[in-house]
Amino acid sequence: MKIAIIGAGISAITIAQNLKDIANISLFEKSRGLGGRMALRRSGPYEFDHGAQFFTAKTKSFKEFIEPLIRKNIIKRWDARFAEFKKNKILRSVTWDSEYPHYVGVPGMNSIPEYLSKGLNIKLNVKISKIIKNTNYGWELFDDNLNNLGEFDWVISTAPAIQSAKILPGYFKYHNELMNKKMVGCFSLMLGFKKELPLLWDAALISDADISWVSVNSSKPDRVKSFSMLVHSTNAWAEKHLSDESQDVISYLTKETSEIIGYDTDQADHVALHAWKYANICKQPKSNLFIDYENKLASCGDWFIHGRIESAFEAGLMMAKEIKKNNNLK
Ligand SMILES: Cc1cc2nc3c(=O)[nH]c(=O)nc-3n(C[C@H](O)[C@H](O)[C@H](O)COP(=O)(O)OP(=O)(O)OC[C@H]3O[C@@H](n4cnc5c(N)ncnc54)[C@H](O)[C@@H]3O)c2cc1C
Repeated sequence: MKIAIIGAGISAITIAQNLKDIANISLFEKSRGLGGRMALRRSGPYEFDHGAQFFTAKTKSFKEFIEPLIRKNIIKRWDARFAEFKKNKILRSVTWDSEYPHYVGVPGMNSIPEYLSKGLNIKLNVKISKIIKNTNYGWELFDDNLNNLGEFDWVISTAPAIQSAKILPGYFKYHNELMNKKMVGCFSLMLGFKKELPLLWDAALISDADISWVSVNSSKPDRVKSFSMLVHSTNAWAEKHLSDESQDVISYLTKETSEIIGYDTDQADHVALHAWKYANICKQPKSNLFIDYENKLASCGDWFIHGRIESAFEAGLMMAKEIKKNNNLK
């Protein structure tokens, strides 16, 4: 059996790792790196986890999954000094510890998908634009230059729900459900400083403002020393400004950050912006997995459960288990 998986984020890699013993799997990823929203950006002496910041582990399966990665130092605990802000006032501070561990990939969040993808057949820089049913075999995949990428029995899309809906045909059994999963945007502002800012915290959750999160990326374990800060806009602010000029967004978010943290971020040596059009999704009610046995199509991602790394893993694992136990697939 040949399976094509669209995307190479944590959900896709989880599916591939759990099905590789029963199928010949190819992953197609439109970006030049893998990991999707578990992303790392390097620029000069600075580096930024500009997507997912950290994760926690609640389910037994996810705890078991991360355990060997912790032993191999691919995952480490981030014992950040954490502060909760309401506008520019700190309401609460606590230092994260082993009681409720907060984890990061080492030396970047993308180290986790990179490590897990070893041995998988992943084609980077390939954007799937459409799939066509071939009456003799199964599905043919095409990139955005309409190059034929081969034939597969099954196609599983792990692209964000609305993007999956564009690739998969309208008769995919769960097409309407895909169309109804609304994901929201987020801006990541990356700031690098020649001199450290004397902050009393490493990670801050902010309410009542247009930014929702500021972290000192360089405070995470095993990062380069150059002082780097990562700011996330709120989803609500991003949704209103996704089509604005980057420079306007940078100016506004920099000013907002300075007002909240009480330091002038205009003095940054390095400034960059990334716009995530499909960053997050709220917690979803439980539903059937989106597996269409008749058409041999499926779709999966964090958006199936919640916009979290743990959810993306759980969604991928559930899908792989379901596919494995179903004899029709063999
Ligand atoms: C700004 C931000 C902050 C976050 N913070 C946290 C956090 O602190 N903690 C946490 O647990 N989670 C966080 N998340 C969420 C977390 O990153 C995601 O839940 C998780 O990484 C999703 O994994 P996934 O595999 O489902 O999707 P993705 O990682 O999005 O993978 C989907 C992949 O499909 C690819 N793709 C899309 N279309 C195509 C196509 N046509 N052809 C080929 N490839 C395609 C994409 O490039 C992408 O690599 C954050 C996300 C963002 C954006």
